[in-house]
Amino acid sequence: MTEAMHLPSIDSLLQLENSIPLLESFGHELVVDAFRQIEDEKRRSGKTGTAEQIIEESKNLLLDWTTPTLVPVINASGVILHTNLGRAPLSETTYQEMKNIAVSFNNLEYDLEIGKRGKRSVHAEQILTRLTGAESAYVVNNNAAAVLLVLTTLAQRKKVLVSRTQMVEIGGGFRIPDVMRQSGAKLVEIGTTNRLHLYDYENALQEPAAMVLCAHHSNFKIVGFTSEPSLEEICALAHRKGALVFHDLGSGALLDTAQYGLPHEPMVQESLKAGVDLVSFSGDKLLGGPQAGIILGKKELLDKITKHPLARALRPDKLCLAGISTTLFSYLTGKAEKEIPVWQMISLSTTIIHQRAKQWKEVLGCGDIIEGRSMIGGGSLPDESLPTTLLVFELNKPDKFLKILREQNPPIIARIENGCVLFDPRTILPHQESCFLEILKQVLSDWNS
Ligand SMILES: *Cc1c(COP(=O)(O)O)cnc(C)c1O
Repeated sequence: MTEAMHLPSIDSLLQLENSIPLLESFGHELVVDAFRQIEDEKRRSGKTGTAEQIIEESKNLLLDWTTPTLVPVINASGVILHTNLGRAPLSETTYQEMKNIAVSFNNLEYDLEIGKRGKRSVHAEQILTRLTGAESAYVVNNNAAAVLLVLTTLAQRKKVLVSRTQMVEIGGGFRIPDVMRQSGAKLVEIGTTNRLHLYDYENALQEPAAMVLCAHHSNFKIVGFTSEPSLEEICALAHRKGALVFHDLGSGALLDTAQYGLPHEPMVQESLKAGVDLVSFSGDKLLGGPQAGIILGKKELLDKITKHPLARALRPDKLCLAGISTTLFSYLTGKAEKEIPVWQMISLSTTIIHQRAKQWKEVLGCGDIIEGRSMIGGGSLPDESLPTTLLVFELNKPDKFLKILREQNPPIIARIENGCVLFDPRTILPHQESCFLEILKQVLSDWNS
């Protein structure tokens, strides 16, 4: 323990030449904090250290403190919309527009025509209504916020019918019954786990209810002896009984997934056509934009929603609004499939994917090529997948290999199937491909040596 007494004083460390670059990069206060922490640790564990050692260890600590924990990763998992990997990557035009807004002042809440205060909601409303035919539109922070806001505004202390077939939990603890409770709406459960009939609604609506909530099954699928009435039927009945219909659509497809060999994912336009009063969905799932929750529907209802005090707490920022509207312009001009990464990945031809996998194998000089499946993910199209070609490695300790890949800069996320490590070209973004191959080549050569 006496040796611990010999640790150099903080002042003496600060005087040393080795400290100058640290002080320049990190500032006096932070450097002192780092020196203190390193010395405290040494004292506690009864260790000693030279001034050089302490400065060197402090440098690592300082780097750790000032490096973002949020970093880009390379998604080789083949899951296109991966909630843990930040969902949709943005299109180039979307990113440029967000940057454009980020570095300047802007007219977020300023009406340029009259030179007075304006509303931030106008920036996405026009494009959303044009694109979908909805009467009105409103953007909030995410879809969970959208659901909460709709229920709080229109159904607090009132009854809301929800089918037991739709009592879903999305990842991250978003559960329909919990959100209902939070909003103050009274949940009325109808139907059974596997089957829901129109007469279930009819019976429940013998007593007045404010709303029928239809939630997209999102990340699960009911198979076997199942049934659910159509949205049209539900809307007609509910309206006859004086109840509103709100559709939590989850993913918000604006393009038909069926044209890419996938099952048909319910589309925003179809919900509105079926007669729902309100529909909500995420901005960063199949829409392919930044995180947002989009509410579309009857103007009269949206007017109430936007005036609710909770709307202020859930409002989107300028970058979100810039990103959502720019992403939507790609749909308006028919360029979504060409410009939006999520749709580029979905529409990528199997021939091109096969060529890329083959190329990778040649570049790396090892691995096998097999046919496999890419997943859509992100609480849309449960179980649904697209044919792909995978680069496969049969390795001794696949878990350890995956861990090494995660430790790279940028980290690579791959997946294991049947004990093999798999890489899917579909989800590797073009600008990351060469970097991916370089890292993988190095990791493989270290692994084999
Ligand atoms: C994903 C999803 C949500 C949550 O949306 P966030 O944008 O993540 O808040 C809510 N409902 C359904 C049906 C979903 O699929």
